[in-house]
Amino acid sequence: MKVFVTGGAGYIGSVAVEQLVLAGHEVMVFDNLSLGHGAAVHPSAKLVVGDLCDIEAIRSAMGDFRPEAIMHFAAKSLVGESMEDPFLYLGDNVTNALNLLKCVVEFEVPRFILSSTANLFDDPEHIPIVEGERIVPGSPYGESKFIIERYLHWISKVYPFFNYAALRYFNAAGASEERGEDHTPELHLIPIVLEVALGKRERISMFGDDYNTPDGTCVRDYIHVTDLAQAHILALGAIGNENKIYNLGNGQGYSVKQVIETAREITGHAIPADVKPRRAGDPAILIAGSGKISEELGWKPSFTQLKDIIASAWAWHQANPEGYQD
Ligand code: UDP
Repeated sequence: MKVFVTGGAGYIGSVAVEQLVLAGHEVMVFDNLSLGHGAAVHPSAKLVVGDLCDIEAIRSAMGDFRPEAIMHFAAKSLVGESMEDPFLYLGDNVTNALNLLKCVVEFEVPRFILSSTANLFDDPEHIPIVEGERIVPGSPYGESKFIIERYLHWISKVYPFFNYAALRYFNAAGASEERGEDHTPELHLIPIVLEVALGKRERISMFGDDYNTPDGTCVRDYIHVTDLAQAHILALGAIGNENKIYNLGNGQGYSVKQVIETAREITGHAIPADVKPRRAGDPAILIAGSGKISEELGWKPSFTQLKDIIASAWAWHQANPEGYQD
């Protein structure tokens, strides 16, 4: 299939592109390289450097490529940042997606896969969190994704040719052999912990140890990035005639302290840690119930243990201590 991948130079997008290429799909990446890396794009994919705020640039790329499917990864995705600058998220995540969706309708692209988020569930009544859980976005970031999920619903009602999948990621982590996490600045827990082990930082600060969790630190569900990419490929084959919404995680929660302890075991480094105040917008516990995608699409994660997920990230960071060379 011809797949147009926005944000295909970013962390999750680049691994999805790699997996799409390996599965025999033809890929065009559309990325402004503001956060992504040209070097992360699989050489068999065509990279168009363009910005989703520029509808003419999207139109021109889609006109050349004539995609049969869109995977939309390009977005801001930091809860904390969105609490400081909510308008950034309204612009980059909502207005830019609107440009993309207008082109999707113009070129009658029948399939769309959205990177959605666990940040829709700020106050879950049930853990693990299944798709039917009530939606309470935890931040402007979560709200921006919810708006797009709802618009996809309406677009598929108004335009019968169009179907979508919204994949609500819990915490993506780990690396494939060639592609890993390289953000500047790095703000995510696992890569920061590994930067301490690499000697690039002195210590890790744990944001809050007074949550209502077993050890007081936040609990998250870490899902390996290649398992996440595989879910996209399965969803691509499944949305011919219907819409799909799935929560994607491993169904197991690990606290910030457990992540640090596991990284100590894997790296052999002491990884000094201290405690800082809570980060705005962080829910205490996020654990996914991913039974629906397993039952409906046969999705089965290959990495179910945190230690294996962190070990794959560690292997990539050791091989690429300065990240991508671009
Ligand atoms: N976290 C932390 N120190 C850091 C970065 C993150 O204690 O330097 C915590 C954060 O507060 C959250 C968890 O680690 O509870 C996972 O955060 P991350 O940013 O990796 O992902 P998020 O859950 O925000 O998507």
